[in-house]
Amino acid sequence: MEIYIEPIGQLINEFSKLPGVGKKTAQRYAYKIVDMTKEEAAEFARAILDCKNRVRYCKVCGNFSEEEVCEICKSRDKSTICVVRDPRDVVAMEKLREYKGVYHVLHGVISPMDGVGPNDIKIKELLARIDGSVKEVIMATNPDVEGEATAMYIAKLLKPLGVKVTRLAHGIPIGGELEYTDEVTLSRALLERKTL
Ligand SMILES: [Zn+2]
Repeated sequence: MEIYIEPIGQLINEFSKLPGVGKKTAQRYAYKIVDMTKEEAAEFARAILDCKNRVRYCKVCGNFSEEEVCEICKSRDKSTICVVRDPRDVVAMEKLREYKGVYHVLHGVISPMDGVGPNDIKIKELLARIDGSVKEVIMATNPDVEGEATAMYIAKLLKPLGVKVTRLAHGIPIGGELEYTDEVTLSRALLERKTL
């Protein structure tokens, strides 16, 4: 016999699919939903569907966008491109409110152990963006083994194109992630970036 009546069991099951949510937390979330008014529950459900229906990837930089081309690509200085692993890293950089250039989201890093090669991430797309107007590419992948290897690999491809390639200065803990780096540290890493 199931412990939960079917709709609650189903909701617990759905919440359990979220990262960091165990059975206990999923159960608490599900009970909370049961306690909501119909309107509140509808709003919650709508927000989830809106994310799926309205969010797509910018066709230029690969960041999340509601339009074909994102706001950052439309409005910012295109002479500097900051290369990051995923959209969460764009958020981390944007929190600094210092960086005025555009981004390129790789959607992964090179990781032979996980079977991810250069062709599995958005490197070709980055190279296609390099023209005379791009002055600097900042490699802002995480300072872990894969992030460093990816930065070096891309730097090698970019240099012959005559573009300056820099890397965020250390200060971000080795093996750490941009996403969890405090803003002061990340801000300094950006300011003190080094030419590769
Ligand atoms: Zn964009």
